[in-house]
Amino acid sequence: MSQTLLTPAAFAAAELVDHHCHGVVEHTLERREFESLITESNWDAPEGTSVFDSQLGTAIRRWCAPLLDLDAHITAERYLERRAELEPRDVNERLLRAAGIDRYLIETGYRGDDILTAPEMAHRADAASDTVVRLERLAEQLVVSLGTAAEYADAFRAHLAEELKSAVGVKTIAAYRLGLDFDPARPSDAEVTAAAGEWLREIGAGGEPRLEHAVLIRFGIWCAVDAQQAIQFHIGFGDPDVDLHRCDPLLLTEWLRLTRNSGARVLLLHCYPFHRNAGYLAHVFPHVYCDVGLAINYVGAASPQVISESLELTPFDKVLFSSDAFGLPELYFLGAHLFRRGVTQVINGWIENDEWDVDTGERLVRKICGENAMRAYKLTPGGAFGAGRNAA
Ligand SMILES: [Zn+2]
Repeated sequence: MSQTLLTPAAFAAAELVDHHCHGVVEHTLERREFESLITESNWDAPEGTSVFDSQLGTAIRRWCAPLLDLDAHITAERYLERRAELEPRDVNERLLRAAGIDRYLIETGYRGDDILTAPEMAHRADAASDTVVRLERLAEQLVVSLGTAAEYADAFRAHLAEELKSAVGVKTIAAYRLGLDFDPARPSDAEVTAAAGEWLREIGAGGEPRLEHAVLIRFGIWCAVDAQQAIQFHIGFGDPDVDLHRCDPLLLTEWLRLTRNSGARVLLLHCYPFHRNAGYLAHVFPHVYCDVGLAINYVGAASPQVISESLELTPFDKVLFSSDAFGLPELYFLGAHLFRRGVTQVINGWIENDEWDVDTGERLVRKICGENAMRAYKLTPGGAFGAGRNAA
């Protein structure tokens, strides 16, 4: 007897919101630069080896090559050669439009000068976009214009409020700068002033304005809590600036207890390999959401298993989609493509085992693709820039 299964139509009917991503670069890429954008390592692959020999590299040769008029599984050399023959803008448009993402929530705080802006991304993708503010970057921009340390707390609050007139949420990289085992308590304004004084003295001595002071990072997060924002946390897998063992989201447990009734929503990003821990937190805390973006691309053909694990404890109203793409349009395309493919494979397995019916599957697809992000970020239809594919 044939079963009714989930089909691509379920995804076509749902708006796809990429709730955490960055812009693409738009210039012809040499192999070394391309390879640097398909690894989380900060260093070249060892001599005689290639970053392409990975799940992500294999997925690019399999799924992206046909979008550049090449056969699937073409060599990395031929892929890069063909890519360089095309205009960079053409490559971006082909891959971004094929991704089928309707709305991008773009975090602009990382290498913002190297990548396209949110309006440019909307244009290349023929989609809508919004911005998400990185708290640590905001502090770094603010501090250089500050007269005295005593101004810091109020100036930061005012600056954040101004940014939030257009941005839809904030992001923190406390995982990178502190580790998630930071003191969960709200710092006092006196502590903030003392910390700002220390930071200003460092900058005065010729230091780069790089926010590493724990009190000020915690203060930024608490300001976002008070503003009842959607707050993205980097969790788990990332470049070697993180101490991965200090990026387990369970380290946030006490802070999550303290913020449960604040009105803020907490979005745990990437989460791999702690996605089951993140699912537990989303399960018990009403204000917690999570995704497995970034990991999906890096685990490639193994992504259905990660998706399946991310759907164990996480309530269906708390799962989000993100690509966490940076730099390459390939990463947007694969993020969306492998997500749709993996979700379909996992849910259809459950339907075939007579555990699920197709209606439950279609409802989950609508939630993960867009409904959950709309609720978590309190988004209104449309987006700040561009127009959604489904818009009139
Ligand atoms: Zn990111």
